[in-house]
Amino acid sequence: MSRLIDQDFDDEQLPWKRTADKVTIYFAAPGVSPEWRSDLEYGAAQWNKSPCLDTRIVDRCPTGANCVTVKVGDGGGDDGNFNAVERGGYTTGGSIELLDSLPTGARKNVAVHEMGHAVGLRHRKTERVLMNGDTYDDVFDPDATDYRNLLFDYGRQDPKS
Ligand SMILES: [Zn+2]
Repeated sequence: MSRLIDQDFDDEQLPWKRTADKVTIYFAAPGVSPEWRSDLEYGAAQWNKSPCLDTRIVDRCPTGANCVTVKVGDGGGDDGNFNAVERGGYTTGGSIELLDSLPTGARKNVAVHEMGHAVGLRHRKTERVLMNGDTYDDVFDPDATDYRNLLFDYGRQDPKS
């Protein structure tokens, strides 16, 4: 395994620094509706199928932890948006904005997709996959390529360095 595959290099996303077997990333989503909460929990379960990740939905960021805040509102001008905080070649924090008015299927797709950016994945060129830049109301799950790309990004880091 020597490179990321099926990447849309028009955008950029960096992995978090791996300091243990798994990178723990909290998603703090205070006050979101039960529907959004359920979709975020679904996303966490999907991303946790990666051996590299331990993602958790919480109400507030634990002190000093890797954490992304989640806000439901205007979606940052799109269906959703992830703004990363980056330092030293890694993501160190960030925020997800989600569009409040999305219908059920699109809502779930966007929630899991934006979490995908937050764990370090770029857009993919293949259509009708979760990490394509388009919103699909019937695509909710990462596929083998997403998990492979995570394994590449996190596996190449030496957690002891
Ligand atoms: Zn995207």
